Amino acid sequence: MKETTNKKIYYIVAWIIIVIMLSGLFIDNPRLGEHGFVYVTHSIQVLILSVCLLLYPKNGTAFLRWTIMTVASVYFYTLFLFYPETSSTFVFLCFIPALAILYFDTMLFYFSLLLNFLSIVIIFAYILLIEGLQYPYVEEDLIGNFFNFIASQIIVYFIFYLTNGRMKKQQIYYEQIQHSERLKTTGQLAAAVAHEIRNPLTVVKGFLQFFEQDSAFSDERKGQITLMIDELDTAEEVISQFLTVAKPDRENVTEYVDVRAVLKSVTDLLHSYGLLHDNRIALEVTGDCTIAANNIELKQLLINLIKNAIEASNIGEQVLVTAGREQDFVVISVIDYGRGMTEAEVASLGTPFYSLKSKGTGLGMMICFNIVEKFKGTIDFQSSIGHGTTITIRFPAT
Ligand code: ADP
Ligand code: MG
Repeated sequence: MKETTNKKIYYIVAWIIIVIMLSGLFIDNPRLGEHGFVYVTHSIQVLILSVCLLLYPKNGTAFLRWTIMTVASVYFYTLFLFYPETSSTFVFLCFIPALAILYFDTMLFYFSLLLNFLSIVIIFAYILLIEGLQYPYVEEDLIGNFFNFIASQIIVYFIFYLTNGRMKKQQIYYEQIQHSERLKTTGQLAAAVAHEIRNPLTVVKGFLQFFEQDSAFSDERKGQITLMIDELDTAEEVISQFLTVAKPDRENVTEYVDVRAVLKSVTDLLHSYGLLHDNRIALEVTGDCTIAANNIELKQLLINLIKNAIEASNIGEQVLVTAGREQDFVVISVIDYGRGMTEAEVASLGTPFYSLKSKGTGLGMMICFNIVEKFKGTIDFQSSIGHGTTITIRFPAT
């Protein structure tokens, strides 16, 4: 809906620009009757620019953006050069980079700003040194015109700076909303589906356990039954992980939680898991770290993160867990020196079933995001491929 309105507005603006360019070409143009070089070049540029403007929504590539900006610059500068008697063309030159703002492309904006500056210096030098008195209004006060030009560039930059900042903020906000929407939908889905599946699973598992004891089955059959029970256990684990997301709040009350104690018990718990690949967990806690959260959920959060860190580590590498106070926040970091993630991988974290592990469920991070959000915390990732990952969580201190 919003997309189409934006497109409509773009087309309206594009057509207005085209009409203005055409009227410059046909209405009271001093070169109209001549059909000389000046007029033909001007016409060709109007044509190219119009086509580019109309093509852009269908094919919005960076290449086309840069082409439009370059052609537009050339167009305005030729207008300026071809019609020395029209002083208003100078105004256009001042606002060429403003066009680039509309395309939300930072590099493009700086490019057009630089291009514009260089062009004006060259043009002014040209007027001053070679052309003589052809541009009376520029010549008369060259320095004044130059300073006005610079001032206009600063204004354009300022507008760009403000718009760009706002756009970026909006982008971040939009991503956050999308993210929490995603979590909400999965949560509801989990509640509905998981309950329905859990009961039949329990029944089937009960029968299988019964058959497992039955002497009527051969040992081979019993082996297969054990395998079936194992698979059901895996399914159950996925479901109970899912259910924690959808669990009603009353089951997990908010209480004062001592992060130090929680971290101690979690690292003790995971100690032997780390030893499987000779990964030691180092714990450093400083200061008073009390937050308002739920003991069990905080444990679940930290277990998920530290388990991931261990699984990402190579044999013998250490996992470092730190906690401490920073002003009004308790900051917990889980640091590993393992495989690391690309930017795209970091962006995918929290998507249900996103996992790069052969036996992963891809639910751990989704649960983490949920718990952090529930207790008004934030979570940040810093990762570089081959060097490891630092996950930083902040909760308001109490
Ligand atoms: P699972 O652990 O079951 O795969 P998670 O949601 O816990 O599911 O993690 C999703 C994926 O994110 C993992 O498969 C892994 O690829 C990636 N990941 C999470 N933590 C780290 C980490 N510390 N280092 C590298 N990759 C990680
Ligand atoms: Mg995990």
